[in-house]
Amino acid sequence: MTNSVNRADAIVHAAHVLSSGGLVAFPTETVYGLGADAENVGAVERIFAVKGRPPSHPLIVHIGASEQVEDWAAGVLEPARFLAERFWPGPLTLVLRRSARVPLVVTGGLETVALRVPDHPVALALLQAFGGAVAAPSANRFGSVSPTSARHVREELGRHLRTAVDVVLDGGSGNVGVESTIVDCTGEHVAILRPGGVTREDLERALGYSVPIRSLGSIRAPGQYASHYAPRARVILVEPDELAGEARRLQALGSRVGALTPRAFERAVADGHVVHILLVPESMTEYAQQLYELLREFDRRGCDVIVAALPPEQGLGLAIADRLRRAAGP
Ligand code: AMP
Ligand code: MG
Repeated sequence: MTNSVNRADAIVHAAHVLSSGGLVAFPTETVYGLGADAENVGAVERIFAVKGRPPSHPLIVHIGASEQVEDWAAGVLEPARFLAERFWPGPLTLVLRRSARVPLVVTGGLETVALRVPDHPVALALLQAFGGAVAAPSANRFGSVSPTSARHVREELGRHLRTAVDVVLDGGSGNVGVESTIVDCTGEHVAILRPGGVTREDLERALGYSVPIRSLGSIRAPGQYASHYAPRARVILVEPDELAGEARRLQALGSRVGALTPRAFERAVADGHVVHILLVPESMTEYAQQLYELLREFDRRGCDVIVAALPPEQGLGLAIADRLRRAAGP
């Protein structure tokens, strides 16, 4: 979109497409979403078809303002109200009891719904113009790397673009870059189901108590699949000081090796004659913003294996490490 007039037109058109049961890919501050009218069962079913996503895998429902939470959730408890007030719009998704207005196809058959107000001008304008709620997973094929630009969306869903995805809104790259933090707010004690853009430390500071990270039992979430967020290349995780040796070993076996390398180990890795070195950004904020583009760049360069080390698991490092582990999953 070249200017704000075009952008306003595009958003009005996209809202109309949603109202007519179409699919719209749109930017958020985390990753690009593939959205449908959350109340239109046929449209939501098309999301699952386009993504190749199992129907038991629930979608996040996006709303334009926290005041709308009562329309889509029932029996909202105090911690959820507080977190919505404090972190919305933002990269925090609250799992709540669903209201009758949310079809079961959206929640994968669960009695809970995941709600979020995204912090991106295009997403908010779209939600406002549309007026309802937009069910949207990330706009990629199931299991692969989430898109952080309109170009990534086109690469991912290329063959569906004319047939199923009616609009791709381009809003540049979001300033968070990894998915939202998902917090179970169905009980008195909140728990993190997926680490993301709002850090555990942010949540604990706001709430004043410690927040556990729960791998899900009864509640299902896409993030819990062992393999997810994965590039085509195989991802191998090692300690930072093992990067050079592991890269050299794989190279000797005939692999086309990429190394996601902290600057401090660049020399060592380069001495091993690894061809494809991409540097880990200096700050965790930049690392989160660029993580998925870095993984895609190794794929573009034709690497068949990527060696990487986990960052310290504090702040955004927790979400980055989670995504790298799943990218390396079986
Ligand atoms: P994705 O489609 O991969 O971008 O992510 C959608 C996210 O929504 C998943 O990570 C799920 O964890 C989450 N989600 C949606 N609905 C629920 C729910 N009712 N309970 C728990 N997680 C949910
Ligand atoms: Mg996803």
